[in-house]
Amino acid sequence: MKIYSHDNLSLHRPLPYYSYGKMFEPLEIPERMTELLKAPAALGIDVTTAIDIGMAPILAVHDFGYVDFLKNGYHEWMALEEDLGAQVQTGIFVPYDNPAIGIMAKAAKYQADDSAPISEHSWTSIYWSAQTALGAAEALLNHSDDKDTHIQLCFSRPPGHHARKSAAGGFCYLNNAAIIAEHLRQKYAKIAIIDTDMHHGQGIQEIFYERSDVLYTSVHGSPVNFYPAVTGHEFEQGKGAGEGYNVNYPMPHGTDEAGFFTYVDKALDTVALFDADVIVHVLGFDVYESDPEALCSVSTEGFKTLAQKMVALGKPIIILVEGGYYLPKLNDNLQAFLSGLIIDE
Ligand SMILES: [Zn+2]
Repeated sequence: MKIYSHDNLSLHRPLPYYSYGKMFEPLEIPERMTELLKAPAALGIDVTTAIDIGMAPILAVHDFGYVDFLKNGYHEWMALEEDLGAQVQTGIFVPYDNPAIGIMAKAAKYQADDSAPISEHSWTSIYWSAQTALGAAEALLNHSDDKDTHIQLCFSRPPGHHARKSAAGGFCYLNNAAIIAEHLRQKYAKIAIIDTDMHHGQGIQEIFYERSDVLYTSVHGSPVNFYPAVTGHEFEQGKGAGEGYNVNYPMPHGTDEAGFFTYVDKALDTVALFDADVIVHVLGFDVYESDPEALCSVSTEGFKTLAQKMVALGKPIIILVEGGYYLPKLNDNLQAFLSGLIIDE
């Protein structure tokens, strides 16, 4: 097993934001990395520092104008004469019929909600989050005979599964899972992305919606009155060549652990039927019973079971650690997940 991270993942610090009629303290904060990194240290597993694979794999998935906004938007924002605040965030959301003239219009075009602001060091973390995931993909592409590359885990902060081709949202900016799935396609014919985060990964769904070479299957809380609210229903099954290759398992709010695994098993059956060459697992610890975002109740021990089920697929797997906001248990929950990977390795 190999684990990848980078010091730059801890730089991005969003400021408090207004949502649902009140101010929110950000949940997706650098302290998450501090807690998560305790887990491999406790288990004596080395963490590899990611290297720079470059911008090309990112631009293979995301629109140039959007990536340019993520990279340079903060400087454009701060160069304005008027002080609009210390992070790019407008509260204006107009993705269509918007010529994107001026940084406010670009923000309105490229930010889908107020939970993905861009502050001073955001781009550095966003870029290295993608590079960390790409490190695992490159290792598999170049050293697939090396047993270590068959199970790989990456810290993806900020997370990515809500990021669309040209829009940030839900704490996400670059879609790490989509970027590595596309990158892996240069060698592998079929990639399956399985997403067990509490929320539906509408960005991944959008990016591969009309394709049959990348299966997307997701277990998540029903989107009815729950983020991302507008996607994640069962009837979203793909389109054109992609029809049937997008499989959503929305869980009723309040699903218990046994119920969660019932849906996970269905998703795993879907992945097994697809017979992918590589599995990409979007892992969210926000399904944990005490997580502020949880509408289901997975226990710490449950993450070990989840890992064992993933490994049992018997395919090379790259796990991206994305959601999970209950700091006191991130270390324990990741240790439980890692122990499930180790036992079956
Ligand atoms: Zn989530």
